[in-house]
Amino acid sequence: MCLICERNELSKQGENPFLIKEFKHSYFVVGDHQYFKGYSLLVLKNHVEDLTDLPSHIQAEYLAEVTRAAKALKNFYGAVRINYSCLGNFVPHVHFHLFPRYEADLVDDRTKNPWHCIEDFKNFTLSHSEASEIVGQLKGLLV
Ligand SMILES: [Zn+2]
Repeated sequence: MCLICERNELSKQGENPFLIKEFKHSYFVVGDHQYFKGYSLLVLKNHVEDLTDLPSHIQAEYLAEVTRAAKALKNFYGAVRINYSCLGNFVPHVHFHLFPRYEADLVDDRTKNPWHCIEDFKNFTLSHSEASEIVGQLKGLLV
């Protein structure tokens, strides 16, 4: 079972403190670190390795879920944009990383790729209680 499937199992059982919302095709979860405030993920429920392996109507519905989550993040955090990252190189299970970006963070370098900051992510790791607090705040926006 892949790392994401293991986490999804916790979400399914109601035991994932990082779970913000369950959508039809995905789980919206707060990220393990908050180097970028509001960093979250939209992980597909089923183990599918690539977007192209999904039927087109599910691709569209999943993208709508990604967009709904992104809107909530923009509204809640006041981010100027969301950077979307769907790579699958490390864990080949379809998921989008949503990195809220802020004017202050972009002002010096608008080309800065969030992954270039990966070395610093570990310094912004969330505890379960901090994750629960964020989850509580965001849940209300997505009823
Ligand atoms: Zn998986």
